[in-house]
Amino acid sequence: MNDSPRGRLIVISGPSGVGKTSVVAELIAPTGSVFSVSATTRAARPGEIDGREYHFVDRVTFQQMIARGEILEWAEYGGNLYGTPRQSVLPILESGRNVILDIENEGAKQLRASYPSAVLIFIAPPDLETLEERLKGRGDTSALDISLRLDLAAHQIAEAESFYDHLVENVDVEETVAQILDILDNDGASATIH
Ligand code: 5GP
Repeated sequence: MNDSPRGRLIVISGPSGVGKTSVVAELIAPTGSVFSVSATTRAARPGEIDGREYHFVDRVTFQQMIARGEILEWAEYGGNLYGTPRQSVLPILESGRNVILDIENEGAKQLRASYPSAVLIFIAPPDLETLEERLKGRGDTSALDISLRLDLAAHQIAEAESFYDHLVENVDVEETVAQILDILDNDGASATIH
């Protein structure tokens, strides 16, 4: 796959409950980016709308999308499949706009291989206790899911240092957004897709 000549690919990863959704939402306008809407086999949570947070599909449909080459990267997470549709990324980059992806580590690794010039940013919680409190407070995740996600988070954080370009600790959303904007300003050359 060729790197796109135009927009910038901005990958934001981090454990579930770390506050990525709020951070990503606040990065869209100042970075002039489009959010890449992923496909997933997980059920929609209350308040989520098909086509806005995710394209909610069943496993057969997801596998057909992979077989047709419509998925740029994908991974299994917490028993569900998640993947980035090509259509959510390539036309945007080609039009010269930036794309922000909210994806987990395996997907980030795959994109790093395909798009060496992508900028990979990992958002970490101050500590696992804070993450647990946030997951519980969200009220949309079962106890079993919370313990599964905490295990996954510990694993993700442990491996993040080895391949992300930047790690940002999310204590306060505004502060985290400001730090990421700084990173993007100062990382322009390496992050721009040539
Ligand atoms: P959630 O179920 O909490 O919305 O997301 C679970 C995890 O899946 C998060 O870490 C999120 O970043 C990741 N994720 C969402 N979309 C994609 C995708 O398209 N590809 C990959 N690899 N991970 C994704």
